[in-house]
Amino acid sequence: MDANTPAPAVRASDLRKRFNGTNAVDGASFEVEEGAILALLGPSGCGKTTALRLVAGFETPDAGSIEVGGKVVAGRGRWTPPERRRVGMVFQDYALFPHMTVRRNVAFGLGGARSRLPWGAGRLGDTRQARRVDEALELVGLSHAGDKMPHELSGGEQQRVALARALAPNPPAALLDEPFSNLDAALRVRVRSEVRDILREAGCAAIWVTHDQEEAFLLADRVGVMLAGRVQQIGPPGEVYATPRTLEVAAFLGDANIVDGEADGAFVTTALGRLPTRSPANGRVKVVVRPETIRVEPKEAGLTPAYVAAREFYGHHQVVLLDGPGGKRLRARMGPAVPIIPGEDVSIAVIGTVSVFPCD
Ligand code: ADP
Repeated sequence: MDANTPAPAVRASDLRKRFNGTNAVDGASFEVEEGAILALLGPSGCGKTTALRLVAGFETPDAGSIEVGGKVVAGRGRWTPPERRRVGMVFQDYALFPHMTVRRNVAFGLGGARSRLPWGAGRLGDTRQARRVDEALELVGLSHAGDKMPHELSGGEQQRVALARALAPNPPAALLDEPFSNLDAALRVRVRSEVRDILREAGCAAIWVTHDQEEAFLLADRVGVMLAGRVQQIGPPGEVYATPRTLEVAAFLGDANIVDGEADGAFVTTALGRLPTRSPANGRVKVVVRPETIRVEPKEAGLTPAYVAAREFYGHHQVVLLDGPGGKRLRARMGPAVPIIPGEDVSIAVIGTVSVFPCD
């Protein structure tokens, strides 16, 4: 590494953790740059929470190493306890102390309120500590709420208190574990953007665990797709979506229609026609056709025939379920105004290039 390149805020290398015979984390590597947001995205049970708990120091890795701000905190014969790792943690259920005011909850993050968390304890005088609590509350827009009790706040506000507590010690990185799963859909949409803006303003790097793709794509600078204990691909949201590296990543991200094909260089022959490939391939392949690339048209001889089996209406878009050639079920997504009637015979066309993956 170039001596002038700053160390990543967090770097995890080849992490492994087994519980009673289950490989919860199975060789996961990821890193997040200073001030950037990394979303660890994957289905339930893929090891996201365990990976985050390893970084926080709530679990000990069986193998691999973790660095925070260029310093090894676990692995390679070293172990730094959680309270001295300089990472703030925001939990799913906020984990606020119900009997403490908002201010005292935030002070707890600084080792205040006779905290048992030693980090920062005794290092900040009372005045400086009070100032930091005020700054953290201001950062999350809750200056007015310092004397309230957690139960007097909405779910979104409580989550912002948890964030203020995590950010008060000015850590280089914050870890967020599905922080909005307890909020209703409308609130979640609003609060997640607020939290992203707060992290940006604080200049704090974040690792954000979620199973929600939309959330990951919207919030993160880079998305790490985690499947079966490993980060299979990591990159900017658009890149990960458009150029999945494996069929598993492609299938997990968005709705993917997967059809068989025979590739010959820049094209692949499928039941949906001869389609240009995103990168050259040869032989038997699996072809990923995104629903938004299937165009449905009035039935016309010479085009690929399909039958409209059903239609799912979502307001801002619709998904049309089609029975394509050979009875293959396909999903096509389009604007809500396109007139589609279940029971109709139509023609379909695939627009743009497709990703292909060699068959094993
Ligand atoms: P995710 O956050 O992606 O849902 P987890 O990291 O919670 O995944 O879990 C990954 C796997 O490890 C799951 O099979 C889960 O049951 C198992 N696991 C997690 N924590 C423990 C534990 N403390 N004891 C035993 N098994 C665990």
